[in-house]
Amino acid sequence: MLRTALNQSVRKLSGTCSSIKCNRLEGKIAVVTGSTDGIGLSIAKRLAQEGAKVVISSRREANVKKAIEELKSEGLQATGIVCHVGKAEDRKRLFEKTKADFGGLDILVSNVAVNPVMSTVMDTAEEAWDKIFDVNVKATYLLMQESLPLLKCSKSPSIVIVSSIAGYQPFSLLGVYSISKTALLGLTKVTADELACDGIRVNCIAPGIIMTKFSKAIYETEGAHETAVSNISMGRLGQPDEVAGTAAFLASDDAAYITGETIVVAGGMKSRL
Ligand code: NAP
Repeated sequence: MLRTALNQSVRKLSGTCSSIKCNRLEGKIAVVTGSTDGIGLSIAKRLAQEGAKVVISSRREANVKKAIEELKSEGLQATGIVCHVGKAEDRKRLFEKTKADFGGLDILVSNVAVNPVMSTVMDTAEEAWDKIFDVNVKATYLLMQESLPLLKCSKSPSIVIVSSIAGYQPFSLLGVYSISKTALLGLTKVTADELACDGIRVNCIAPGIIMTKFSKAIYETEGAHETAVSNISMGRLGQPDEVAGTAAFLASDDAAYITGETIVVAGGMKSRL
């Protein structure tokens, strides 16, 4: 019962968030990876609500079509293409499509991550290490590198990387995933410095526990939900829309003098390395 009441008030809150309207991203073009569901879809929607033209992508064509329709039905500007971020050909097509449909790129949001195993670090097989690092870390770097020719032509280019609170405070049995998310904090720092001379800002978001398919094992089990909430000052899990507003801020000129930073969006969960 407590959970139902909590979820109702959270829904009210996220309704308030999605009614926020400003046009900070008018005229900008954005690519959001893994944007057919969860945090990525919310970010894509929010960027479009603020005026950006958005390129949707994920592994499944049906999901891409559905997300584009959802945005278009709200009068938002969107196109899209299948892109498994671990596949070089897919990434190439993603940026070709972006250029062909919208003519350039101002904002890259690297949102995809995977976690194929629940195990201690010492028990994690090499194949799982490879998959986690290939998708979560290497693909993020490759997307950044491959987007540079387009971003360098933008007047205010920016990159937003989605890490996790687990990058600061590792989750037990998500050890290698947590390490990959810590690596993204480092990737943000290093590339922000390297790309500053091109006027490209690089920032990062570390979401706490956000109610998506990815985290449903936590909120679908009463015990796991209670344990999770006991570590959150605000006493509830987050909603994808509550991460999206931070992405829009970081991508906008309101954050024009911010680079190399990570914003934790976690309702007060502990977040120190
Ligand atoms: P989600 O709800 O499971 O959504 C994942 C999205 O990514 C879907 O659109 C999925 O669509 C797509 N996707 C999955 N693998 C992909 C791949 N290899 N290439 C391209 N697209 C792929 O996940 P989420 O919770 O929103 O997570 C998004 C990001 O937030 C991740 O980086 C995650 O680590 C981070 N995060 C999440 C939480 C949380 O509590 N939810 C907390 C901290 C950080 P297809 O199936 O069609 O590919």
